[in-house]
Amino acid sequence: MSSQRRASMAPEQSTVHERIDAIVEVFSAPDADPAWLLCDRHPGDAVAFTVVEPDGSAVDLTFAALRDRSERVAGLLGGLGVGRGDRVATLMGKSADLVAVLLGTWRVGAVYVPLFTAFAGDAVASRLAGAQAAVVVADADQAAKVPDGPWTLLVAGSDLTDRLAAAVPFTGSTAIGGDGAFVHMFTSGTTGAPKGVVHPLRYVAGWQSYLEFALGVRDDSVYWCGADPGWAYGLYSAVVAPMVLGLRSVLQRGGFDAAATWRALVDLGVTDYAAAPTVFRSLRTADAPVPAGLRLQRLSSAGEPLTAEVNEWAQAALGLQVHDHYGQTEVGMTVGFPHHPDLAVPVVPQTMGVALPGWSVTVLEEATSSPAGTGEPGLLAVEVAASPFMSFTGYAGAATDRFTADGRFYLSGDLATRNADGTLRFSSRDDDVIIMAGYRIGPFDVESVLAQHPAVAECAVVAAPDPVRGEVIEAFVVLRGDAVPSDGLVTELQTHVRTRYAAHAYPRRIHVVAALPKTASGKIQRAQLRRQLREAAAVTT
Ligand code: ATP
Ligand code: MG
Repeated sequence: MSSQRRASMAPEQSTVHERIDAIVEVFSAPDADPAWLLCDRHPGDAVAFTVVEPDGSAVDLTFAALRDRSERVAGLLGGLGVGRGDRVATLMGKSADLVAVLLGTWRVGAVYVPLFTAFAGDAVASRLAGAQAAVVVADADQAAKVPDGPWTLLVAGSDLTDRLAAAVPFTGSTAIGGDGAFVHMFTSGTTGAPKGVVHPLRYVAGWQSYLEFALGVRDDSVYWCGADPGWAYGLYSAVVAPMVLGLRSVLQRGGFDAAATWRALVDLGVTDYAAAPTVFRSLRTADAPVPAGLRLQRLSSAGEPLTAEVNEWAQAALGLQVHDHYGQTEVGMTVGFPHHPDLAVPVVPQTMGVALPGWSVTVLEEATSSPAGTGEPGLLAVEVAASPFMSFTGYAGAATDRFTADGRFYLSGDLATRNADGTLRFSSRDDDVIIMAGYRIGPFDVESVLAQHPAVAECAVVAAPDPVRGEVIEAFVVLRGDAVPSDGLVTELQTHVRTRYAAHAYPRRIHVVAALPKTASGKIQRAQLRRQLREAAAVTT
C-alpha cells in the first residue's frame, strides 16, 4: 500500500499509535501532494462543503466541483507566473470561491496566506508585505483594503469568474513533500505584533489527528466548525482537516449571529459543533432562545480559556459538556479533552484536558526547566523529540526564543498547572500573570468566578500598577443586557470573587465597559487593557 493510500484508512482499523504513525508517514512523504490529499483522491460526488447563506439557504459543494474550479484557479495562477513557493493570499469570506482559490494555490505548489476579512487596511498591508505575496484574491467589498504593492490583485465575483472562464485549466497537481511550505500565516497578535509562521505540509498531520481523536468525528457526524479560516483553528479545523478526511464541513457566510447559528444547527442536523469560547458565550447570553430539534452530540471549543459558566449553561441548556481544546498557530492542537471514545477523559471544568495523541506536553518550573510539581504553575512546554506532530522550528524572518537552550522543549509562552489527576489547567499567558505582593495570580481563575455572576456577559482581569503591592487586580466587565451598572453591583461582584475564589485576590476596581478589546478572531487583548490602566495612572500621578 502506498503511503498516500493509507491516508484514507478509518481510525478504527488501527490502534491510536499505529494511526498516528500512519498519518505522520502520509504527510511527511517526500512525494506528498496537497491537492491530491485534500481533494483529488475523494469520490467526485461526495460533498466537501455545505455553504450556508445568511438567509439560511444552503448549497452543497462536491469534490468534483471543487476539483474543476481549483484546476481553473491553478491555470489562472500559472498564467500569472505563480509557481512553487510563491505566496497567494486571500482576503475573502467563507465561500466556495475561497476554497477553490486555496486549493488552486496548492495545486501549483504555491503557499497559501490567509487574511481575515475583519482585518483593517494596516493589518492587511503588513501581512502581505511580511509574507511577500505574489497574488491577492479579495472579495469585492474587501478589495479597497489591499494597498498597491508588488502583488497582483484579483477581485472575486464577476472579475474572477470571467478570468476563470477564460483560463486554461491546470489539471495536474504538485507534490511539494512533507517539508514543503504549505501555509504562511500569522499568529493572532493577542500579545503584540503578529508573528509569521510557515507551516510545512506535515503540520497538517496533527490537525487530521485532532479531527479524528479530539473532535472525535464519526462516519455519521454532521460537522461544523464555526471558526473563520482567517486563523489557524478555522483554516485547519473547518477546511483543511475535513477535506483530508473527506468529511462534509459546514461553512456559514457572513458574521456571527446567534439566531442564524441556532437555525443552521437545527436545519442541517449538526451533531459535531466546534467554535471559540466567545461564540458559546454569545449563544448563552443572546436573546435568541435555544431551539427545539437540535441533534448535537459533541461540542468543542478552542482558542481561549473556556470559563466554567459556558459548561454550566451547555449542560443545562443542551445536556452536553463543551470539551476544551488548546492549541497554537505555531504547533497546532496539543492539549484537550478528546471526544473519541477510546481516549475519553471526564471533562473537568476550567481545565483544558490532557496531551493529545502525538504530543508530549509537560509543565516546567520557570527557574530550572525541570518538571514542575503537581499543582505548581509553570511553563507549558512540548517535548520535541517525543512529539511526532511537532513541525515548528522558528518564526519567519524573526528571531525565535521559544526553545530551551538544549532544544529539548518548545516553550508555549503560556503558564499552566498539572492537576493530581494528570489533567492540565491553563493559568495565563506568561505576560498576563498578575504578581500581587509576591503572589502569582492567573487572570483566568478570577475571570472564571466573575463570569459566573448572572450580571456578567464577559470579563477580563488584568494587573494594574500599585505602589504598595506591585500589582493589583482590576477587572473590565461587559454586563448582560438586563443588568444595570451601579456602585452596589460593583461591590456585589467584588464580594462574589472574594467569597468564591480568595479573599485577597479580588478586583480592586471594576470597570464596566461596552466591549472588550479583541483580535479579529475574538481573543481578549489584555495587554491593551493594561496599557489603558498604565496611561490612566500616568495621567493621575
Ligand atoms: P500572539 O502569539 O500573536 O500574541 P495568539 O497567541 O493569540 O497571538 P494564536 O496562535 O492564535 O495566537 O493563539 C494561541 C494562544 O491562544 C495560546 O498560546 C493560548 O494563550 C491561547 N489559547 C488557545 N487555546 C486555548 C485554550 N483552550 N485555553 C486557554 N488558552 C488558549
Ligand atoms: Mg501566541
